[in-house]
Amino acid sequence: MRDVQQQTVYKWEGEWEAWVTREFLTVSRPRELVRRACKRYRVPPPVVKGHHRVTGGTSFYEPNLHRIELRKRHWNVAIALHEAAHAITDWLIGPDQPAHGPEWMAVYLDLLATYKVAPRVALEASARAHGIRWSRAAGPREFKRLHKRRIRVARRERENRARYKRASRV
Ligand SMILES: [Zn+2]
Repeated sequence: MRDVQQQTVYKWEGEWEAWVTREFLTVSRPRELVRRACKRYRVPPPVVKGHHRVTGGTSFYEPNLHRIELRKRHWNVAIALHEAAHAITDWLIGPDQPAHGPEWMAVYLDLLATYKVAPRVALEASARAHGIRWSRAAGPREFKRLHKRRIRVARRERENRARYKRASRV
């Protein structure tokens, strides 16, 4: 699925310079943040693997392994939450959505405000100025209410996959 918001989101994040520069010496603090963010949405925490090489590569969430890889230069609150938001939306509503779509953005905004990266009004105003769109859900409970059907479908698919895996084991 075409990820129309990706570049806009990166540009928007880049303007909040103080967020996106490295601030932790080890990956343990970002890992702990990912764990707390996922707990907020009742999603099992993914494995968070830190990469020590400074140059090259990128940070990402790998849905098949439920795993986040974080480059050293990304060891900060905002990017930990950015990747946690991927883990949460993918886990809850499945990969059948643009990676930086409105559902992901709603989770990301909630996490950025909750972990006090910036006040929600400031986040919303600047995201709006960039033309970024997000679903109305302003927290886990609303997210689940608004996306109930897709959450149900995704859960069923996950269960079916697990069943298939068990059945095909000999
Ligand atoms: Zn992303």
